[in-house]
Amino acid sequence: MHQLTLAEIARGLADKKFSSEELTKVLLARIAQLDPQLNSFISLTEELALTQAKAADARRAKGESGALLGAPIAHKDLFCTQGIRTSCGSKMLDNFKAPYDATVVAKLAAAGAVTLGKTNMDEFAMGSANESSYYGAVKNPWNLEHVPGGSSGGSAAAVAARLLPAATGTDTGGSIRQPAALTNLTGLKPTYGRVSRWGMIAYASSLDQGGPLARTAEDCAILLQGMAGFDPNDSTSIDEPVPDYSASLNGSLQGLRIGVPKEYFGPGLDPRIADLIHNSVKELEKLGAVVKEISLPNMQHAIPAYYVIAPAEASSNLSRFDGVRFGYRCENPANLIDLYKRSRGEGFGPEVQRRIMVGAYALSAGYYDAYYLKAQKIRRLIKNDFMAAFNEVDIILGPTTPNPAWKLGAKNSDPVAAYLEDVYTITANLAGLPGLSMPAGFVDGLPVGVQLLAPYFQEGRLLNVAHQYQLNTDWHTRTPTGF
Ligand code: GLN
Repeated sequence: MHQLTLAEIARGLADKKFSSEELTKVLLARIAQLDPQLNSFISLTEELALTQAKAADARRAKGESGALLGAPIAHKDLFCTQGIRTSCGSKMLDNFKAPYDATVVAKLAAAGAVTLGKTNMDEFAMGSANESSYYGAVKNPWNLEHVPGGSSGGSAAAVAARLLPAATGTDTGGSIRQPAALTNLTGLKPTYGRVSRWGMIAYASSLDQGGPLARTAEDCAILLQGMAGFDPNDSTSIDEPVPDYSASLNGSLQGLRIGVPKEYFGPGLDPRIADLIHNSVKELEKLGAVVKEISLPNMQHAIPAYYVIAPAEASSNLSRFDGVRFGYRCENPANLIDLYKRSRGEGFGPEVQRRIMVGAYALSAGYYDAYYLKAQKIRRLIKNDFMAAFNEVDIILGPTTPNPAWKLGAKNSDPVAAYLEDVYTITANLAGLPGLSMPAGFVDGLPVGVQLLAPYFQEGRLLNVAHQYQLNTDWHTRTPTGF
């Protein structure tokens, strides 16, 4: 039963082959048995899950239907869940029980999804390896000595290991797409504003966006359907009707114009990944797509711009965690200044402290123009590059990451080496565009992802291309040994 996708679960529940309660019990037992190897969960919510499963079964018995009604999922532990610990992977929020549900959590619960637990993540979503969590690193089910990617590493590892069919994640600079690539999943970062950020603990507000992680594009369509939509509580949420994503999956790719940026194939890219990306292009050509080389000339400036803007916003967002208004408070403070200093010094881990310092520096009076303003100008140039490219092509295709999953600890002493892994993903966040990563093959037994980018609000196009690719390839069906 644990091998079923969301789409298959919906059919099984509709055909009364099993109940949501039965399925939930099977998955909870599987998590108890296998998750100690992976560490993909921070909290399990067994009681809530069984209550929600029974309620979903009762709704189905009364004749209700819906693709998410009774479907087991988990939430990245930065989505607020009422009465349940919402830690953000940090000691700072280790004892924080959210007083309300994030919009995404509330919407999925209303659609009948069953929450099995809260998944592990990099502290405050800062990282690409899930090693900065206060709750310990997450292991990649494809090789337990390797990282699963981050910051949604717990969601990715859990879904890849078939502990559950799908989970939510968030993507500020790649944190859905990159762990999806490193664990053989399909992951989608929607257009900025498509999914409400209300109740999603902020890292960098102008870049953060929630989205689905699942095994197939078909399942991402189902989960995104439950997450997307206008929310008056989020001032950057966009009031656009949500299309039927599942209905968009079967469009023909005949004549689809795919742009492949020449800048993507520079010296930093593992040549074995480059080969797999070229193979995926050939596969799409067989389905009728037309390929064209394009250029994104400002891409080389994306990492420095992102690593100014994201820390700048983080330094502002995280100022509320001071031991008084929010978060961990140190023992026996000598005075108010000591309380602030020690609460933040003890509550935040080293990567978060590094980002706060970089961000506060970039925003300080003497440096604002030189760093922050400059980075914002680069951001606009990057967006303009994409706008020009999308005049010529329908989607942009390339690698999701320059390398497969690295060994645990391999980049710990060199944060910049980890930042460089984000080179292909962060531009979509800087421009606010939707992006998807899907399985494209293996290198040394480790999964490789291909990334697709589309114009604003064209999530349906991304899902359509990915679904057609998945009907004609079987990379996404491979299961890690032992799971
Ligand atoms: N790796 C990037 C960072 O550390 C992106 C993280 C994310 O998308 N949350 O900032």
